[in-house]
Amino acid sequence: MDLLGVAQQLRAQEHERLLEVRELVQDKIRRQSIDYWNREEFPEDLVAQLAGHGLGGVQLEECSHLLRGLIHAEIARADISLSSVVGIHNELVVGMIHEFGSAQQKAQWLPKLTAFEAFGAFALTEPEHGSDIAGGVQSTARRDGDEYVISGAKRWIGMGTFSDFALIWAKDEDSGDLGAYLVESDRPGYSATKIEHKIGLRIMQNADITLDQVRIPVANKLPGATCFASANGLLMQSRAWVGWQAVGAMMATLDICLSYAGKRQQFGQRLASFQLIQQSLAEIAGNLSLCLSMMSDIARKQERGDLQMVDAAMAKSTATRLARESAALGRALLGGNGVVSDFEMAKVFCDVEILHTYEGTYEINSLIVGRALTGISAFV
Ligand SMILES: Cc1cc2nc3c(=O)[nH]c(=O)nc-3n(C[C@H](O)[C@H](O)[C@H](O)COP(=O)(O)OP(=O)(O)OC[C@H]3O[C@@H](n4cnc5c(N)ncnc54)[C@H](O)[C@@H]3O)c2cc1C
Repeated sequence: MDLLGVAQQLRAQEHERLLEVRELVQDKIRRQSIDYWNREEFPEDLVAQLAGHGLGGVQLEECSHLLRGLIHAEIARADISLSSVVGIHNELVVGMIHEFGSAQQKAQWLPKLTAFEAFGAFALTEPEHGSDIAGGVQSTARRDGDEYVISGAKRWIGMGTFSDFALIWAKDEDSGDLGAYLVESDRPGYSATKIEHKIGLRIMQNADITLDQVRIPVANKLPGATCFASANGLLMQSRAWVGWQAVGAMMATLDICLSYAGKRQQFGQRLASFQLIQQSLAEIAGNLSLCLSMMSDIARKQERGDLQMVDAAMAKSTATRLARESAALGRALLGGNGVVSDFEMAKVFCDVEILHTYEGTYEINSLIVGRALTGISAFV
């Protein structure tokens, strides 16, 4: 649903690729994901479908930023949880090893990761530090001969229950410098517990991870990740990705609402014929078009290599705010059926809550924009 024709900016071959992904996720993912979402279960067979179409490595695909963004939006349009799996895997795990890893780390992990034959986790947030994690990391790395000893706790870590390794952000005990360490999940002292009963992104398995003096070889440190600025560079790009997820959520909202309003009859007429229903549809379409245009400008900035944190923060906060507003309109438009996941709208409604909070909360991203506008930091 692209009223302004943003996807028409793609070259013919890229447009084909987008249509291939749309067909795949609409046919093989959208309806199939509902049961997994209800059961809070990871859908290995659905992920295998995504792997078959190269979506484990979309981060390294030779393509425009616009195509990559639209692909992420199409996946979110079908299922937001799975788009989080694909997005975090690509932006924060594949991307991080590709950008900051050693030659040996890249050779060992990238082929398996991009085929979805291995999973990693990006582990920054801690139980006591979320929004203030930049200055708040408590996890530590202590050098002991040819090894590092990693201790601490991480919270909310996506794919953390089953990933082959986690990229743990920790402070060097000697220098106090922040760094990233690849910690395999089968090492003694590593444990991960699933966070149960989430209201959204129920397919994404989030974990509390504890690290009790876990020993890793010195070679497991990522040579390129040497301070919080490295994490921030990645987070800037992944915030923009959440903007695309929000676009996908609004596409899903419009799809679901148009279909429902076209079929459901009250007072002897289809809902679609009522003026107030058409107003809701117009508002959702307006929110979607606004964000799609904004995200295409963000993609252009990424293409030029001049995306700034304020751009990513504005895109993330604005798109998730409008996705949340659209999902509320959509949920109401479906009446009682809007609260049942079988009708899909309730699933979008709940998933959008997480987009609003993760990758820097709505409030913190707004404060980043506020700081750029006023020159005054309201949060540090
Ligand atoms: C489903 C899910 C998946 C996630 N996946 C990952 C992952 O894979 N890896 C990872 O490292 N992290 C992950 N996160 C963590 C996520 O990034 C944090 O939840 C987020 O940064 C907020 O931190 P917090 O939950 O500790 O909230 P808090 O920081 O405790 O914030 C609570 C509230 O206070 C507000 N607040 C805080 N400080 C200020 C201030 N100065 N001014 C105004 N308001 C303020 C916040 O906006 C929020 O509304 C995930 C989170 C969720 C929910």
